Amino acid sequence: MALLSTTDFPLIIEKQDGFSHGRIDLHSHTNCSDGSLSPQALIDRAVNYQIDVLAITDHDTLAGIDIAQGYINEQNVPITLIPGVEISTAWQGFEIHIVGHNFDKNNEQLLQLITNQQQAREQRAITIGEKLAKCGFPDAYADAKKSAGEGSITRAHFAKVLFQQGHVGTMQKAFDLYLGKKGRNIQKAYVKPTWCSIEQAVEVIHMAGGSAVMAHPIRYDLSAKWLRRLIVHFKESLGDGLEIVLPQMNPQQRQIMLNYCLEYDLHASTGSDFHHPNKWSDLGKNLILPDRAKPVWALWS
Ligand code: AMP
Ligand code: MN
Ligand code: MN
Ligand code: MN
Repeated sequence: MALLSTTDFPLIIEKQDGFSHGRIDLHSHTNCSDGSLSPQALIDRAVNYQIDVLAITDHDTLAGIDIAQGYINEQNVPITLIPGVEISTAWQGFEIHIVGHNFDKNNEQLLQLITNQQQAREQRAITIGEKLAKCGFPDAYADAKKSAGEGSITRAHFAKVLFQQGHVGTMQKAFDLYLGKKGRNIQKAYVKPTWCSIEQAVEVIHMAGGSAVMAHPIRYDLSAKWLRRLIVHFKESLGDGLEIVLPQMNPQQRQIMLNYCLEYDLHASTGSDFHHPNKWSDLGKNLILPDRAKPVWALWS
């Protein structure tokens, strides 16, 4: 199928053509946080996968957006890039991710929030490093920092270090044994983060003129009762929508998420949460938004 030109962006959306072919992907990562591809390589991959509309949503950083946009302009690539960010928030002891889209990336309040979140990330990384040192890995912080480079440091960087140095068999094991928190079970190098609240994240995204969706509601390991509480709280915090379509979700999960959107009058977003090439997910893969969902991009015109 021929690529549509970037100037067709509003048309693609109205015709639903872009997402019916999985050509809108509003959640992706670069090596400015814990993705493995540079912003330029991510754009190249998106072109290969015939994505027309892509949001880069790195963890608590906007650094990849200008690099990617510069590359798109320079190479004259047929992609519309939506400014995006995935903000970590704290709610009732859970870490909830809020994705902002289509904001003014020079907005002062947004830049201040990003600065605060970066400080929280750095502080947490130092403490994780201290805890891992006590577990017998004295260089974990230095190595994770090196792996993150100038980018946002995440637990994924620590997991990668532990995996690559042969201390754990998989990255998942690094979370299971050291970095993670599952229910009340807190692992040895888990550090309670000092993220902003859901209300703050939504408010600042709105101040910057963007829309705010709750990322991957199915991944928080919440009972149905707690997930509903979270969605009610998100709605009361003036959140705009839920990310109801991810590549790995089954039809039943998609239906349940759609029902929440309809019940609470929330918009819907779709995205792969691409970090690196793997078997189970990729840019634009399996991202069809159901007909009855109100797309989040309806808020952007
Ligand atoms: P952070 O935002 O620093 O807490 O890092 C979280 C990131 O680590 C997530 O965005 C995922 O990419 C990755 N991650 C979180 N939990 C796991 C897990 N159980 N296994 C593998 N990667 C994970
Ligand atoms: Mn991540
Ligand atoms: Mn996330
Ligand atoms: Mn993500």
